[in-house]
Amino acid sequence: PLSGLQKHLQGLEGRQYPSYKDLCGGGWDIEQRSMTVFFDRVQGDAYAPPSWIRARVPMSAAKFPPAYVTESRIRNTALCDFVTRVLSDRLRGGGGTDWTQVVQGGGWSGSKGGDLQIDTPGQYVLERSSVVAKAEFIEARVTLALPARGRSIEGYRAADIVGGLCEAVEGSLFYKSLDAAALQSHIEAVEDQDALRKQLSGLGLVAFVGNGAILPRKSGVDDRPMTTKDSPNLVTFESPTSMEVTVSLPHAGDVTGMGIQKGVTLIVGGGFHGKSTLLQGTGLHFSKKPGNVAEAGMKFDSEAEALQLGIYNKVPGDGREHVVCDPQAVKIRAEDGRSVKSADISPFINNLPFGKQTQQFSTGDASGSTSQAANIVEALEVGCTTLLVDEDTCATNFMIRDEKMKALVAPDKEPITAFVCKVRSLLEEQGVSTVLVVGGSGDFFSVADSVIMMDEYVANDVTKRAREIGQKSAPPTQAAFGKVARRRLQPSGLAADGKVAARSLRCIQYGDTEVELSCVEQLVEISQARAIGDALQLLGDGHLVKGGRPLTSVMSDLEQQIHAEGKPVGEQGLDSLSRFREPCPFYA
Ligand code: ADP
Ligand code: MG
Repeated sequence: PLSGLQKHLQGLEGRQYPSYKDLCGGGWDIEQRSMTVFFDRVQGDAYAPPSWIRARVPMSAAKFPPAYVTESRIRNTALCDFVTRVLSDRLRGGGGTDWTQVVQGGGWSGSKGGDLQIDTPGQYVLERSSVVAKAEFIEARVTLALPARGRSIEGYRAADIVGGLCEAVEGSLFYKSLDAAALQSHIEAVEDQDALRKQLSGLGLVAFVGNGAILPRKSGVDDRPMTTKDSPNLVTFESPTSMEVTVSLPHAGDVTGMGIQKGVTLIVGGGFHGKSTLLQGTGLHFSKKPGNVAEAGMKFDSEAEALQLGIYNKVPGDGREHVVCDPQAVKIRAEDGRSVKSADISPFINNLPFGKQTQQFSTGDASGSTSQAANIVEALEVGCTTLLVDEDTCATNFMIRDEKMKALVAPDKEPITAFVCKVRSLLEEQGVSTVLVVGGSGDFFSVADSVIMMDEYVANDVTKRAREIGQKSAPPTQAAFGKVARRRLQPSGLAADGKVAARSLRCIQYGDTEVELSCVEQLVEISQARAIGDALQLLGDGHLVKGGRPLTSVMSDLEQQIHAEGKPVGEQGLDSLSRFREPCPFYA
């Protein structure tokens, strides 16, 4: 039997598009299925961005164990991530019909719209707004391009699609309809990774790579784990004995792997021996991965590497479940052409030609080395405690300077203090560790605490030998680090005229400005870019930056707003980033 909502939609058949606005307001009870459907935003015409719909099931009917819903934030996150995946599969054809297909054609008067979309996760288990579970209810948020023929509502088709949505919700938002064992192992795997990451600091580590981990990915466009079908040479990770650490996890029990100590760690080895794969790897680019909430022209890109993605929890079966790093680890790279605003890059760069100052350095087009310096000081400014650096994406003149060059170009003519001269003071004065991939220069040997050599994808501890070689020549002169400046965020710098959109994971359109995210390699889903864009918008509007406040305070206020301490689990949330206070379907 049709629900009241479906009958209402059928009644709209042939009416003018704006009649869809009637759907807003209170929720629509779906009598047969113990759920309520809300229309939070209804588009003005068939070409506008799709409408936002929520389907809510009371917990008394959904019956998820309270241990998953309200006991800890990490379990709640894992639950919602799991339910998002199941619902996404069902909408995508797992229930028979693929409701995400776009109907097009027939010119202006032909059928338009009709596709349902839900945020579709990849390998990472992130806090998301696509599904929200609280003590009282669980709800899913999707978008639907409400169907029309020209300006005329296709009410019967809309009723069909909404029926499909309700069926998919029935198959995913009720505990009894899910694979309970799979849900449990999803939650346990995530809880283990979280526990592992939390143990790092106490063990004096910045990263851990479990034995048996599969680090390489399937291909350049697929970040699922490599299998022996993809490459017969697949080598699973084994720690050198000297670096082995055993940790105890709540569900998996004792797990052994390679512990990377706080300090300066080098990853060396011949080209193509797996260094970057261990640290960060070559860029993996997905173009238009099907299934992401598709606003027109949106792209999904990802870079998916081992350590630098150790800040995230992965799905069971990813191969990197026991690869974690310091949650405050930041991947640093050169990013020439980037814009820099009032950054103090003087720890690395001084005495520019014609007396240009570097304590408040601004440029619309930074060089490789200045961009890398800016990326480091900005990371430090907001509390980064580990730098992850790969020579593949570094500016060479920022990293080292050899004797021959010093002989030719006098030091007082060189504005750059090479990273190799600061890496120790960064550790000793600022408490910041560095994990660095190098294949081309031994200059770092004498400043390293440990050296890992990748040899045919096998990790070896070569610290002793590297130290001996390092001692044969004069060590690079070490310089004091200098101070990390704290900038203030001015409200006037945050005026986007109401227009903010994440066009892809790589670009946020912010008013007339394009905020480039391509080189922020640790972002993995477009929904993160959406959350960042809306967070900027919220700051621009609000009281958080009144009078110009330090960036660090603004960041912790935002964090506080999202994860309001003291509020029950499930009550905090990403929804607070929405300026319109509407439950946004796609934040991560
Ligand atoms: P490097 O940075 O040392 O030059 P990469 O990390 O880029 O090397 O790895 C080179 C290639 O080897 C990549 O195509 C990667 O997928 C593959 N690879 C890396 N680690 C492994 C492994 N453990 N098993 C199989 N193939 C691997
Ligand atoms: Mg490399």
